[in-house]
Amino acid sequence: MRTKRRNYIFEDDRLKSFKDWDFSESQSCNAQKMAEAGFFCIGREAAACFMCGKELDGWEEQDDPWMEHKKHAPQCYFVKNWKKQNDYTVHELILLLETYAKNQQEKKHLDKMMKYTEQQDKIRDEIMKK
Ligand SMILES: [Zn+2]
Repeated sequence: MRTKRRNYIFEDDRLKSFKDWDFSESQSCNAQKMAEAGFFCIGREAAACFMCGKELDGWEEQDDPWMEHKKHAPQCYFVKNWKKQNDYTVHELILLLETYAKNQQEKKHLDKMMKYTEQQDKIRDEIMKK
């Protein structure tokens, strides 16, 4: 299941995505902590980061969302900043949004490049067939 990432920049929106999350408030990977760590829900016991796109599934009650995020995506800008959204200054929030926008741009660019390469391969195959 694919969920669009662009709607999950803000913690509140991410939190809403966890309305059917299996873990209760007393467990360390509860919805609030998942949202704080940058995750939004993409399925049963599965979540993705709005920033780096890392998808993680098979969450267990003792998992710490921040630690899991750091372990599996140490390069993520959100992880590197290591802050809850509420602790961001306006300036930092702007930086975060800029980085997010840049990541999205790069992703778009990469997608385009991939399509282009695929097309090249197709054309090459067609030529080789002849
Ligand atoms: Zn991330």
